[in-house]
Amino acid sequence: MRIGILAFLHESNTFIAMPTTWRNFEEDTVAIGNEILNRFVGSHHELGGFLAGLDRADHVPVEVVPILAVRATPSGTISEEAFDELLSRTLSALQRSMPLDGLLVAAHGAAVSEKHRDADGYWLTQIRARVGAKLPVVVTLDAHANLSPAMVEACTAVIAYRTNPHLDQRVRGEEAAKMLMECVMGKTNPTMAAAFPPLVINIERQSTDEPHLRVIYEAADRQLDFPDVLSNSLLLGFPYADVCEMGASVVVITNNDLQLAQQLADELADELWRNRNAMKGVLVDVKKALDLIETTVGVRFGLLDMGDNVGGGSAADGTVLARALCERNLGPAFVCIADAQAVAQSLNLEVGATVELLIGGHTDHAHGDPLLLRVEIVSIHSGRFSESKPRHGGIVEFDQGATVVVRACEYPMTLLLTSKRMVPFSLQQLISCGIEPSSFRVLVAKGVHAPLAAYREVCDRFIRVNTPGSTCADLSRMDYHYRRHPLFPFDSFPSDDL
Ligand SMILES: [Zn+2]
Repeated sequence: MRIGILAFLHESNTFIAMPTTWRNFEEDTVAIGNEILNRFVGSHHELGGFLAGLDRADHVPVEVVPILAVRATPSGTISEEAFDELLSRTLSALQRSMPLDGLLVAAHGAAVSEKHRDADGYWLTQIRARVGAKLPVVVTLDAHANLSPAMVEACTAVIAYRTNPHLDQRVRGEEAAKMLMECVMGKTNPTMAAAFPPLVINIERQSTDEPHLRVIYEAADRQLDFPDVLSNSLLLGFPYADVCEMGASVVVITNNDLQLAQQLADELADELWRNRNAMKGVLVDVKKALDLIETTVGVRFGLLDMGDNVGGGSAADGTVLARALCERNLGPAFVCIADAQAVAQSLNLEVGATVELLIGGHTDHAHGDPLLLRVEIVSIHSGRFSESKPRHGGIVEFDQGATVVVRACEYPMTLLLTSKRMVPFSLQQLISCGIEPSSFRVLVAKGVHAPLAAYREVCDRFIRVNTPGSTCADLSRMDYHYRRHPLFPFDSFPSDDL
């Protein structure tokens, strides 16, 4: 049995002016053939799960055919050239890998390209056209996918992560491999139906550990007890992709029973809709967050910068929280800011030297102005680190470029200045630069839920702060042009009916 493996993972924030180019992918992952195995085998990523799942396929000789894996850190809309490059590489690599008996695909589900707003739907449709209508194609999706009818049409089955932070990526990959093999062997006939309630779950409400979403996942888990239900998924959606598919959705996969699949998908969508008021964001402003820190003793806080959520595509050089912490003299505080210019300036200096730096706020005017600080150079690093524990994203090797640790001379603040944008998914980002995370009273993480997988090891309490930026949690500030109408909570609904 020849089973192909493909991956294209990008979460596109259409509110960012700068497009995502092919270079952004090359800086993260463009892997072909055995490179994919070397890179992902044993990882907590769904590709690691695919490989583990195929390895375990009972009594069936499986030939794993790694085709192509492409990924970039979340960023702006994918340029037309980059998407064309991706598509032509994918389709020619796929052609070379034929014939196949089945295909496993890791997609994000919230990719947008300049030409194809439903980029994943388009990409998957092209793959389906090449492999034919009958080949089993099982696709894993990020929980933040904006599922489209085209994606559902193109795939035999889709399986989304069930956790945010995403800690079950490997498990979902294994599940996908199992489902594909059972289908390839003729044991099951995965039959999928989707439902698209007109609802956006605010990013602040997308923790799968909290009660408002727990009830939905528990309802989903109960459906899995039905003998003919093979899988179901809840897609939370990605509000920063301005596309008509933006929002929450549901899929159910049964063994050859489309009617049951549709009925159960509709029931889960109804459950979401009934709970829609719990899906609006809770918006805590900067002042209120810092008031709370100031008046609470003996607690180590994680301050989540929702407006500069790097994992949602934002600039990573926002200064709003760093400035506010300085102004209030709150600390000791830790902030990471991507600023290649400030790093380059610091690299010319000796450790222990002091310098005035204009930090962050360079990418745009949405995330706060540059912050002028006199700092002492504490240490200089290559910026490479690795993470072995299960963390959001399942990434093992990280590279934040040349990195400098500086200490503000007039404020109780340590800053990690990186040359590249880096998602705050691993405490090794700090530890590898000689920073002890538990030595701070306040740690700023530029994210919403994803950082928790790492930061809950050191933070007693988290505050999600409604900061401005390209990932602002106050969705009424975002200028949508392509979203569906009507859509909750933007539009009013005459009744409780779907
Ligand atoms: Zn996600």
